[in-house]
Amino acid sequence: DGSPPSAAASAPDLPGYAHLYSGKVRDLYAPLDDAGHPRTDRLLLVASDRISAFDFVLETPVPDKGEVLTRMSLWWFEQLADLVPNHVVSTDVPDAVRGRAVLVRRLDMLPVECVARAYLTGGGLREYRADGTVSGIALPDGLTDGSRLPEPLFTPSTKAPSGQHDEPMSYAQVEAAVGPDLAARARDLTTRILVRGNELAAERGIIIADTKVEFGVVDGGLVLADEVLTPDSSRFWPAEEWEPGHPQPSVDKEFVREWLLSPASGWDKASGEAPPPLPDDVIERTRAKYVEAYERLTGRSFTARGAA
Ligand code: ATP
Ligand code: MG
Repeated sequence: DGSPPSAAASAPDLPGYAHLYSGKVRDLYAPLDDAGHPRTDRLLLVASDRISAFDFVLETPVPDKGEVLTRMSLWWFEQLADLVPNHVVSTDVPDAVRGRAVLVRRLDMLPVECVARAYLTGGGLREYRADGTVSGIALPDGLTDGSRLPEPLFTPSTKAPSGQHDEPMSYAQVEAAVGPDLAARARDLTTRILVRGNELAAERGIIIADTKVEFGVVDGGLVLADEVLTPDSSRFWPAEEWEPGHPQPSVDKEFVREWLLSPASGWDKASGEAPPPLPDDVIERTRAKYVEAYERLTGRSFTARGAA
């Protein structure tokens, strides 16, 4: 289905920047150089307030979501700085996107979505039920939806073009794609990021069940890019409600999913049609969830900095 027309249409016009691409949630720009040409060494990543559920970008944005997630990523980059260098150059960005945009080094990206799982659910659970393995790694019997894994696993997938689904990759495929050395480093860093993330999140009552990170390559070394340990790239579960044996509530999209699946929405998930707009109270409660996750994790209070 490609990038949704509404996404590109809502990408703001930024003087001094060339719009390159709009994904489901983010708009990418290249800053213009003195001659007015797009720079090839920098990117402006702008997180919109768009929210997706069940693989649809919903019509209704969640106010401040882009800013909350941008600030959460920046906080994590700092927490992880001794583990891995990152792509951040500056948060000095145009007023129109202040708070939700970051200027970054434009990197050659590894062609791999680096996923790590600390708990079993989603695609990992499906593979385990079929074959007793996750990403080809044999696991003990008796695990269920939400079980904590004996150790965090690297479960990479392809970077599918926008609108297509990522496919699982075996570790051997990652080695073939990037070489054994970078593959080993990506695997090691991805699982360490999740372990470190969970050490910090545990103190704040949040479980990070799994996460996806992306790396760029600079001088043969890996640099953490994209976003990191946000509810958009990870499954955040409220720790006090964790109970293996059934799907866990998510910290951020619980109300959205619940409402969409309820009779009140009038939406039939099986129809393949786009979901209806969200009612105001669902939006407001969802916004509050994102803010709460940010505040709990970072211990900072959230006041929107950006232009309304
Ligand atoms: P969609 O979410 O629609 O499936 P997407 O994941 O490509 O598509 P976004 O997450 O909105 O969309 O866009 C971020 C894009 O920017 C990703 O393709 C990511 O690989 C790329 N990216 C992130 N950081 C960097 C960087 N430092 N250098 C180059 N590319 C980057
Ligand atoms: Mg992405």
